[in-house]
Amino acid sequence: MSSHSKSLGEFDLIERFFKTGANSLRTTADSAIALGIGDDCALIRPPADEEIAITSDMLVEGRHFFAGADPELLGRKALAVNLSDLAAMGAKPLGFTLAIALPMVDKIWLEAFSKGLFAASYDYSCPLIGGDTTAGPLTISITAFGSSPTGKAIRRSGAKAGDDIWVSGTVGDARLALAALRHELNLPNADLQNIAHRMHQPTPRIELGIQLRGIASAALDVSDGLLGDLRHILKQSQVDAEIQLNQLPKSITLQKQGIGIQNQFAASGGDDYELCFTAPSTQREKIHTISKILNLPLTLIGKILPKKDVEVRIHLLDASGIELSNSEAAPFLNSFDHFAS
Ligand SMILES: [Mg+2]
Repeated sequence: MSSHSKSLGEFDLIERFFKTGANSLRTTADSAIALGIGDDCALIRPPADEEIAITSDMLVEGRHFFAGADPELLGRKALAVNLSDLAAMGAKPLGFTLAIALPMVDKIWLEAFSKGLFAASYDYSCPLIGGDTTAGPLTISITAFGSSPTGKAIRRSGAKAGDDIWVSGTVGDARLALAALRHELNLPNADLQNIAHRMHQPTPRIELGIQLRGIASAALDVSDGLLGDLRHILKQSQVDAEIQLNQLPKSITLQKQGIGIQNQFAASGGDDYELCFTAPSTQREKIHTISKILNLPLTLIGKILPKKDVEVRIHLLDASGIELSNSEAAPFLNSFDHFAS
């Protein structure tokens, strides 16, 4: 990790700290890392005929996570959300860099943070290959690098009228956990236990993204809310969509809530990190097979339609197939605003 002139002696300690964790990772992904931490730059040697996928994500205390959040969970999540972006493109992780600003050097905090960070690093064979540390308000910025065969990355722009719309896993649980922690609603402790990991420890769907190469026409990961994020695919692909509200996959825990909360959290709650993707209906059988192989539910939730107006549009259908009015649909279409208030 490089150190700027403003860097304090203590910050050199941190650098050594992360270096130890980075160097202790020896995985198959290492073969793509020609040079890791210790020089001015890391060197990545992508596999032959592959393209590099790059994504950055910044987490700011008070906006993206609570002040005083558990540092181990935070370390894990900081890397997981970046890997989720790689998953959305069908990219396999190669390595990541970490830039971190810390208000002070707290060794206990750092130890826990790096424990979580390196746990995710091991789980997804994605080593730390460089970065920077400085004093400042707690901010964690990670850039992750992955690769996929040339031309096979799944973009947002490929959805076509007639394609099916799918989502992995279940949606809305992270929002339900947040609602409970914010005391917006009362959730029995056992229920909170069941879903808290969905908020704190999102699972990047790396394997799913890789399996969907050549099958999905478009994809993204759900970070700000399913329908708000789906709109990004619609805009990039210049298409409309029809969504069956009652088809959104919900956990047993979320299903205990009133139907209004269920649908709102599933449709617009943030932080799910599931993949939403489109595919021609001829791919249904293959998608069901992928679901079985990965032991991960993949649910058909709607259909891509030709674009009718200047703006792209999501038509929301109720259980009887009747379209919701604009005002009825509005609460489901707004993206979750993270911690903005
Ligand atoms: Mg994303």
